[in-house]
Amino acid sequence: MRALTSHVPLIIGDQLAPASTGATFDSINPADGTVIATVAEATADDVARAVEAARAGAKVWQRMRPSQRTRLLLRYAALIEANKEELAELQTRDMGKPIRESLSIDLPIMVETLEYFAGLVTKIEGRTTQAPGRFLNYTVREPIGVVGAITPWNFPAVQTIWKIAPALAMGNAIVLKPAQLAPLVPVALGELALEAGIPAGVVNVLPGRGSVAGNALVRNAHVGKITFTGSTEVGQEIGRMAADRLITTSLELGGKSALVAFSDASPKTIADVAFTAMYGNQGETCTAPSRLLVERPIYDEVVELVKARVEAAKVGDPLDPETEIGPLINAVQRDSVHSYVLSGVQEGAVLLSGSTETPQDRPGQGFFYRPALFGDVTADMRIAREEIFGPVLGVLPFEGEKQALALANDTIYGLAAGVFTRDVGRALRFAGTLDAGNVWINSWGVLNPASPYRGFRHSGHGSDLGQSAIESFTKEKSIWARLD
Ligand code: NAD
Repeated sequence: MRALTSHVPLIIGDQLAPASTGATFDSINPADGTVIATVAEATADDVARAVEAARAGAKVWQRMRPSQRTRLLLRYAALIEANKEELAELQTRDMGKPIRESLSIDLPIMVETLEYFAGLVTKIEGRTTQAPGRFLNYTVREPIGVVGAITPWNFPAVQTIWKIAPALAMGNAIVLKPAQLAPLVPVALGELALEAGIPAGVVNVLPGRGSVAGNALVRNAHVGKITFTGSTEVGQEIGRMAADRLITTSLELGGKSALVAFSDASPKTIADVAFTAMYGNQGETCTAPSRLLVERPIYDEVVELVKARVEAAKVGDPLDPETEIGPLINAVQRDSVHSYVLSGVQEGAVLLSGSTETPQDRPGQGFFYRPALFGDVTADMRIAREEIFGPVLGVLPFEGEKQALALANDTIYGLAAGVFTRDVGRALRFAGTLDAGNVWINSWGVLNPASPYRGFRHSGHGSDLGQSAIESFTKEKSIWARLD
């Protein structure tokens, strides 16, 4: 894989090439601030060429027998599995996620997702309806053609496959614009698609700026759908551009998720789950339960247990298999996270763990940030309302189910939520009233490619996973035939 080398190309058709202008940008290892690769920076012209390659690739791909497409996607999954150590290490070096997460979470999810969608290729069906009069009416699901995908830096490997797998399974070709802050694995995955025998042009990968390559992709007249994962603000902008062109979008956006813990649940389990879900990936996770709502009778105990976990957490070299919390993606993100910690203190929350000391840039030291835990957070504070996207957990006390529900749903976001209780009736009742696309009972973060994964409200719309992906990556056509 050339992405493992220090010069990373664009992938257009079957070409691994520099950008048309020769422009490049540096990919930085956030653990020590060193440049690990020089990456080709796609221009609007490169995007136009990639879309042309994708149009040609889509035709070849659609002419193949479905079973052949299944075989190629399975071969692609097998190649990813065979290269999992290299891919996991590349991801960790490029964006700082602890290697044990890259290896034990991200890589298996990618392989399973490809395998699931490879199986769906041969199961895309239309319907025959009860047509009035002497008519036959049936529906077919047609591929959209060229899908444009734009992804964030926090799960670069998983996000690439979550876009590629459903798009290709439904017979489309894809042009992917990965985040500039973590482009190495997406390019490596583009190369592996070619190596698996997926035809040229079906997978194109163009690292570059959102405002240039991303923008050109959304505006290209031959792109029939945009699947985007990233911040709510950029998602809104993309939604507006796509609306002008009247093309469909799937938008997986930000979150401010609540984990609600009732007093009949085990404080230790709550603390363990909250710690792992919140501080995993350094808190740079869209579904991180950054609001922990705890019922008064167990509030003190849960807070103490979480605090003990946070203080014992191993922060350090993300390539060390023991590391639990790696560096943040860059200094800008670190300083933004720190400004939230200061705002929490100013607004009266109790900083139980963490520091108000200004983080310093030190050569070779990377962008590490001490995880923070706040107690006595109230719903009006910025740390309870805004997506921080870093290792900062706010704990809010509550009394009774009614207050818990009001607090949990008091957010513009609707990505994820969870409830911990031993009372089955309450668990189901409460899960039904949480206004979020992904709800977990007595757990957090469980995923399966067969199940939709989506947000509500400011967390977006559309799903990359599950049966609903069939709908969103195809066009349903209704055909009427007169029989007399
Ligand atoms: P971001 O919105 O800044 O960037 C996402 C992508 O959009 C990048 O590839 C970027 O280059 C591109 N982009 C930026 N401006 C653009 C424009 N004008 N036109 C076209 N493309 C443009 O997000 P990020 O900082 O990379 O990622 C963090 C965000 O992603 C967080 O808000 C997080 O919650 C969200 N996220 C959501 C999910 C989910 O499934 N809901 C998953 C992961 C991350």
